[in-house]
Amino acid sequence: MTNQRSASPQHTPVTVVGLGPMGLALAETLWGHGHPTTVWNRTPEKADRLVTKGVHRAETVAEAVSAGPVTIMCLKDYETMYEVFDSAGDALKGRVLVNLNSGTPKEAHAAAGWAAERGVAYLDGAIMVPPPLVGHPGSVFLYSGPRDVFDEHRATLASMGDPRYLGSEPGLAVLYNTALLEMMYATINGYLHATAMVGSAGVSAVEFAELAVGWFLPAVLGPMLAEEAPVLDRGVYPGDLGTMEMNLNALEHIARTAEEQGVHTGQPRLMREIASRAIADGHGGENYLAVFEVFKKATQAP
Ligand code: NAP
Repeated sequence: MTNQRSASPQHTPVTVVGLGPMGLALAETLWGHGHPTTVWNRTPEKADRLVTKGVHRAETVAEAVSAGPVTIMCLKDYETMYEVFDSAGDALKGRVLVNLNSGTPKEAHAAAGWAAERGVAYLDGAIMVPPPLVGHPGSVFLYSGPRDVFDEHRATLASMGDPRYLGSEPGLAVLYNTALLEMMYATINGYLHATAMVGSAGVSAVEFAELAVGWFLPAVLGPMLAEEAPVLDRGVYPGDLGTMEMNLNALEHIARTAEEQGVHTGQPRLMREIASRAIADGHGGENYLAVFEVFKKATQAP
């Protein structure tokens, strides 16, 4: 089936390479926003549903990328990208490749170098939402790479969500992505461990959530964190309202309570160890945020 749509200035033709759950959502959304859309996937049948709507299924990667100025790739990883696009010869030359798979900053750098050698304009990106939220105006997509390429294709990128440009350094998008994921896992773990603590006394998760999620998170932690960024940038942590020594005491109580209550002690012990490190580094009289100075350095032996 051929592509039923012709290009209009508002609707740049787009190619999507990779039709896992995320690639399928991207292709469907781009098509839904009016972009003439071409797809390629190792397993071609995954495009069947899209083809019935009018999306064009290319036979080869070279044919796919030749269908328009912009190719959006959403494959498993960077290794797969090399495998897939090396088969396309120089078909990508002079075109734009937007990489939306996950990886590390080093991998993004290497990919930007690989693209530059082939005359390909390259944007690295990261998707901050699951497939069902692709296409919603509030769904954030992060991008890094050449500003002019981002600006030129901003409208196309905006069809998938809210495009945020982070800078020309290619690794920034995946670095932000992993930093936010780290924050997510650490926050979830804090909540789960706290729920396990009160659960050891027979308190249900629902009962605890009323206080923990209904009040503590939005009324205490959220506003507190919102005020911290300028302090972290200044790197000054006055201890007049509470010192690291005092916080170590609180962390000691958390670790001992976890032991007494018979729940997992790894997480509280790690937090205690990090605060002890801060004290050993001379931050005992400063407030708890001085732990940031420990985090900025590579891990040292205790
Ligand atoms: P995935 O399982 O990570 O990737 C599947 C895609 O990679 C399929 O198109 C698959 O082709 C292709 N692939 C794997 N190995 C290949 C190979 N050797 N040669 C050619 N193609 C190969 O599924 P996904 O969930 O769609 O994720 C894609 C990327 O988006 C990942 O980097 C993921 O981290 C990122 N992401 C996903 C989500 C999410 O919620 N799903 C959210 C944010 C970011 P076949 O169909 O032929 O197997």
